[in-house]
Amino acid sequence: MLSSEQTLGNLIRDKGRPGRRGYTLPKPDVDEISLENVLPEDALRKEKPRLPEVDEPTVIRHYTNLSRKNWGIDTNFYPLGSCTMKHNPRANEAAAAVPGFAGLHPLQPEDQAQGALRVMHELQVFLSEISGFPAISLQPLAGAQGELTSILMVKKYFEDAGDEGRTNVLIPETAHGTNPATATMAGFNAQSIGLDEHGCVNVEELKEKADETTAALMITNPNTCGVYERNISEIAELLHEAGAFLYMDGANMNANLGRMRPSDAGADIMHFNLHKTFSTPHGGGGPGSGAIACSEKLAPFRPVPVVEKEGESYRFVSPEKTIGRVAGFHGNFGVLLKAWNYIRMHGPELKDVTDMAVLNANYVRARLKGTYRIPYEGPCKHEVVVQPPKGMKALDIAKGLIDHGFHPPTIYFPLVVKEAMLIEPTETESKETLDDFVGAMLELAQSKDLEEAPTKAPTRRLDEAKAARQLKAHW
Ligand SMILES: *Cc1c(COP(=O)(O)O)cnc(C)c1O
Repeated sequence: MLSSEQTLGNLIRDKGRPGRRGYTLPKPDVDEISLENVLPEDALRKEKPRLPEVDEPTVIRHYTNLSRKNWGIDTNFYPLGSCTMKHNPRANEAAAAVPGFAGLHPLQPEDQAQGALRVMHELQVFLSEISGFPAISLQPLAGAQGELTSILMVKKYFEDAGDEGRTNVLIPETAHGTNPATATMAGFNAQSIGLDEHGCVNVEELKEKADETTAALMITNPNTCGVYERNISEIAELLHEAGAFLYMDGANMNANLGRMRPSDAGADIMHFNLHKTFSTPHGGGGPGSGAIACSEKLAPFRPVPVVEKEGESYRFVSPEKTIGRVAGFHGNFGVLLKAWNYIRMHGPELKDVTDMAVLNANYVRARLKGTYRIPYEGPCKHEVVVQPPKGMKALDIAKGLIDHGFHPPTIYFPLVVKEAMLIEPTETESKETLDDFVGAMLELAQSKDLEEAPTKAPTRRLDEAKAARQLKAHW
C-alpha cells in the first residue's frame, strides 16, 4: 500500500515538467488563422493556460490510479442501508447507449421521438401496475424532488378545494431527513410523530394528531428500520377520516415489488426512486429519478408533461390543474430508459427481486444476532438495523470494515436507534459475499483496537470536528 503522500499528494500538475508533451503534430500545411480576427478582443487570452505539461503514459497512469481509488458497487460489496446499492445490469447501459436514444435532443419534435415517448409511456404503465395507482409523472429528478412534487400537489389540491388551515405534515421519527425538509420547503410545519415498541408509527399518537390541520402523513414502508408498518391500513383510514392524504416514501420499494401495492395499502400518492429500486449507478448526487404515482383525485395536479397514447402515437400532455414544471424537458430520460429496461428484463418475475432482497437481509440478521444487538424483534424486510456489542461504537466497526475491503453500512441512521448500523445487502449479492461480510463483522466485534482504523486505506481517519470547522477544500 502506498502512503497517502505518494497516492494523494501528487497532483498531475506536480508531475509535469516544462516543455514535456504527450505528442506533437507536424506543422500545418495551411495558413494559421489568427483568432484576433475571429473573437472579440476581451475574449482573447493574454497568457497561455497553465496546463500540466506531461507525457501520455503519465496522464493515463495518473487518472487510472485515481479511478482505482473509487469505491463502487463494481469493485466491492456496498451494503449502504436505505440506498439500495444493487448491481447495475450492463444490459441497461447498452440500451441507454443506443444512438437513437443517446443522441436524441430534448427539443426534438414529438413525431420524431416516438420511440422515446413509447418507452416513457410503457414505463408509466409499468409503474402504475407496480404501485396500483392510475396516474404517474416521470418528471422529478430525485427521490427528494419526487417528495417535494407530491407535497406541492397535495398543497395545490387543498388550495383548489378552498380547504384552508391544513398547515401540518406529520412525519414519523424514523423518516429520512428529506421528508421534513420537503414538508418545510413546501410551506408546511413538519410535525413529528413517535413510534411504538415495534419501531412503527404510534397509532394512538396519530389518533390525537391527525385532524383538520393535517395535510398529509409521510410514511416510508417498510420504514427505515427495515420494519414493515403493519398498521398501514388503519393509518390510512385515520388520515382519510381527517380529510388528509397518506404519502408513501417509496425509496424502500425493493421490499415491496410484486408483494405489496401502496395503493392497496391505502396510500394516495408516492414517489419511486427509480435509481434505487430499478437500478442505475447512483451516488454523489446523481443521476436519479423520483417518478411519482397517485390516485385519480391528485392526478390533475401532476407536473407537466405526461405522456399519453392516442391510437398508435404518443404525445406530451399537460394535466388539467398542473402545478407546472419541476424539471427541464422530460425528466432524467437515461434513468427512465434504464428502469424500463430493468423492469422488462425481469417481467412477471420482478417479485423475485424483493424475495431475494428480503431473504438476504434476514440471513445477515440471523448470522449477526447474538453478537450484535437487534433492536426490533421479528423478521426484517430488505434491510436490517443492528447495534454493535455494548461498549463498542458503530463508527469504529464501520472504519474497521474498510480495512476488510467492505463499504460500511449506513451508520447513526435511523436516528431512533442508538449506534445504529443499517445494512442493506440487496438481492444481487451471493451467499459467499454475505458470509465474507458477516465474517468481518463478527471478527470486528471481538477487536479491541479499532480507534485507529482504517489503517490500510489511502487516507486515515479524519478528525471530523476539525474537518467540519476548519474545512480546507483546496490543495
Ligand atoms: C434515498 C432516500 C430518499 C431520497 O432520495 P434521493 O433520490 O436521494 O433524493 C428519501 N427517502 C428515503 C427513505 C431514502 O432512502
